[in-house]
Amino acid sequence: MNAPVNWHARAAALPIDGRALIDGLRVQAASGETFVCISPIAGRTLAAVARGAAADVDAAVAAARRAFDDGRWAGQPPAARKKVMQRWAEGILAAQEELALLETLDMGKPIRDALAVDVPATARCIAWYGEAVDKLYDEIAPTGRDALALVTREPAGVVGAIVPWNYPMIMAAWKLGPALAAGNSVVLKPSEKSPLSAMRLAELALDAGLPPGVFNVVPGFGAEAGEALALHMDVDVLGFTGSTRTGRRMLDYAARSNLKRVFNELGGKSAFIVFPDADVERAARTVAGSLFFNQGESCNAPSRVLVHASLADEFGRLVAAQAAHWQPGDPLDASTAMGAVVDDTQLRTVLDYIDAGQAEGAQLLAGGRQARTDSGGCYVEPTVFAGVHNGMRIAREEIFGPVLSLLRFDTEAEALRIANDTPYGLQASVWTNHLSRAHRMARALRAGTVHVNQYDEDDITVPFGGFKQSGNGRDKSLHAFDKVTELKTTWLRIDPDGDA
Ligand code: NAD
Repeated sequence: MNAPVNWHARAAALPIDGRALIDGLRVQAASGETFVCISPIAGRTLAAVARGAAADVDAAVAAARRAFDDGRWAGQPPAARKKVMQRWAEGILAAQEELALLETLDMGKPIRDALAVDVPATARCIAWYGEAVDKLYDEIAPTGRDALALVTREPAGVVGAIVPWNYPMIMAAWKLGPALAAGNSVVLKPSEKSPLSAMRLAELALDAGLPPGVFNVVPGFGAEAGEALALHMDVDVLGFTGSTRTGRRMLDYAARSNLKRVFNELGGKSAFIVFPDADVERAARTVAGSLFFNQGESCNAPSRVLVHASLADEFGRLVAAQAAHWQPGDPLDASTAMGAVVDDTQLRTVLDYIDAGQAEGAQLLAGGRQARTDSGGCYVEPTVFAGVHNGMRIAREEIFGPVLSLLRFDTEAEALRIANDTPYGLQASVWTNHLSRAHRMARALRAGTVHVNQYDEDDITVPFGGFKQSGNGRDKSLHAFDKVTELKTTWLRIDPDGDA
């Protein structure tokens, strides 16, 4: 049997480079400034990271534009781009331990999840878009005999991507896969809370043969590097994933600059609805697993659990019992299921919501406190509230932490009304063995994804995104190409007379 990996020893030996990657080179910020990247695991300083700002964004966008205009990537046949993307995906898998460690150290998720989920999902996304791109055909319109109209897709040009910290590599890959496969150049701004893996992804892309300048990474703060990228006059498309608050700003930046196309993938407050005819134990296990996974820091976390009044008490007991399996542990221990929340600010936010839930009269069934306080890191107990109604802050606002709220309903109509009574519309789940009810609910729920009798089924093959204030556009699937390509119509006149 192999000895268990000593992740602490590997983490201590891991070289970390905090420089930006612009035009194929690792560089410091033009200002020479850095910011400190601190691990939420035990408060250790990981690296000094280049503090990108407008000058660095200008350099990255200029490099991306040069690369796009001279066709070093966009001009390659799709099959050639495919090969590079496939090699890149292989490189990501070959570097799995390093990438997983960077992710775990940077944002606190368990190493076992970083290895089993984040790295393979990132590689699959890059490979999938590479494989797709030489199988896409364009269109010929049904015109009359004297004309030919071609409808072709062209890469949009320079794509800016601004992403959050909860799944740093996966969120970046969802932007990079379609954008790069289609032939665009990209400037990526990772979150200041989790900047490290993005630069390694870009290095691995260079190693795989992606030409310099095609994929640039500028780390930095939202109000500095992020704003400069979103306001840039030479960025054609902006792909944003993050909070609804910041997504609103993205539309404003576009309006104030060059009307770049903005695609927002934003927050959620997803409803999980349990009817009495469901497999209740399985529902309880699933909702706990889906909510507490990644410390509750998932946009699609099922944080509003609507349970039929006849089983609400039993369901509360079952979910509270599940919390025992999700007690926070050392993220570098391979048996840990729930790790640290991303930083001290997020820790305070989550604890404030727990206080708000109690102040508004919700009943605490499990958790509710900070955990592992001796570690020097940021940990919260898995927390379950019962007696929640949809007007409470913990039911209306995205907490982005391991806090689950149980609400009651009496009728199907009431369940639907409560589920849709939210500014968000990312996901929902219906638990019932009644076929027609499952379909009725699935049709009526205002959400980008509806699950029936499960929650976390997911694949790169299906679109991911939300209704209402959860965003516009969709990441993943072939539909994501719509965001990073322009449609062009080319009309040709066909002379009806031959040359005789
Ligand atoms: P955030 O909005 O604070 O930050 C996201 C990114 O935007 C970061 O890179 C940040 O630096 C940047 N940013 C912040 N302010 C900016 C500004 N004024 N100008 C330009 N850039 C700015 O979000 P977060 O806390 O990093 O992420 C959590 C949010 O992301 C949650 O709301 C979650 O639901 C959402 N999310 C959505 C999806 C989805 O696919 N719908 C996926 C993951 C996360």
